[in-house]
Amino acid sequence: LKVLDKGEVKLLDRMGGDGSVIAAARVSNGVDYESASKGTAKDQGLINFLIKNRHGSPFEHAAFQFYIKTPMFVRSQWHRHRMASYNEISGRYVEWGGTDAPLEFYIPEQWRVPAATNKQGSVNPSEDNPAWNPMLNMMLELWSKTAGETYADLIELGVAKEMARMVLPVNLYTQFYMTVNARALMNFLNLRAAEDAQWEIRQFALTMRDMLKDAMPMTYSAWERNDFIVP
Ligand SMILES: Cc1cc2nc3c(=O)[nH]c(=O)nc-3n(C[C@H](O)[C@H](O)[C@H](O)COP(=O)(O)OP(=O)(O)OC[C@H]3O[C@@H](n4cnc5c(N)ncnc54)[C@H](O)[C@@H]3O)c2cc1C
Repeated sequence: LKVLDKGEVKLLDRMGGDGSVIAAARVSNGVDYESASKGTAKDQGLINFLIKNRHGSPFEHAAFQFYIKTPMFVRSQWHRHRMASYNEISGRYVEWGGTDAPLEFYIPEQWRVPAATNKQGSVNPSEDNPAWNPMLNMMLELWSKTAGETYADLIELGVAKEMARMVLPVNLYTQFYMTVNARALMNFLNLRAAEDAQWEIRQFALTMRDMLKDAMPMTYSAWERNDFIVP
């Protein structure tokens, strides 16, 4: 699915789902995997109980593998989430703008101004100035283009890729895989789909929240009912 202007999130693979959570929870009572389900109503009730009481470990038995294409500055926020496995494209191996790694930069649709109440946060400008977005995008496009050209010049001069990349700005798109269990994913989504998260990472989190909803409808329903708390 497309996110931002050139970003992407794909659910590549999945292990388990609501059934794995139910089986993992009921093994406490000696119930075997085949007879773990007690029907939709009881299974949903069990998952509600687990979320509400923050018995999170059964959710660790379902896992997701995502492919993500996102700007570097979003990646920095993302990789703070340690309860996941990551592998990322390497700027030491690939040449940005070469055949293996597109040199693509994030250009926002809307430029925001500092928020009055949240020192980290931002909001859309209160006054409509039609020149605002086009002017700032022109500046960013020019800056990105110059950085890309300087990078190519450094490569041309014989500089190693691991050093030439120093001139590239953090709106450069990078790519990585993330494998994460459902419990840690809910933690990630709880923090990054929240309104105080940066708008850009929030777009990814909201898209992935819908993916979780499709993959684990009972878990999602209980989680939503409990205000997306971290189990
Ligand atoms: C709105 C927002 C603003 C932020 N601002 C900043 C900032 O200004 N500066 C900054 O540095 N970071 C910032 N962060 C990152 C934040 O501090 C966390 O590093 C990040 O959200 C990952 O959360 P986590 O530790 O819960 O996730 P994970 O690393 O995936 O960990 C999941 C859970 O595992 C447990 N856990 C993981 N590692 C440990 C450990 N070493 N010891 C004990 N328990 C552990 C914790 O229960 C944790 O909640 C911000 C995050 C958000 C959402």
